[in-house]
Amino acid sequence: MTATTTMNWSDPVICPFCGDELQSPGAGFIDHIRESDDCERGFEHWRENVAGDLAGEWSG
Ligand SMILES: [Zn+2]
Repeated sequence: MTATTTMNWSDPVICPFCGDELQSPGAGFIDHIRESDDCERGFEHWRENVAGDLAGEWSG
């Protein structure tokens, strides 16, 4: 069994919601969702879905 603590999508520099390339993994994605309402909503929804599985991972 492999423990995965990173986000659950294949390429961290590609937005999983719109497919745009990000400036950088992680921080670049946060900047991106601030600029894109659709992606922000998608991310909020995704985060709620995984909250039970990844309790505490994204508390920051
Ligand atoms: Zn996006």
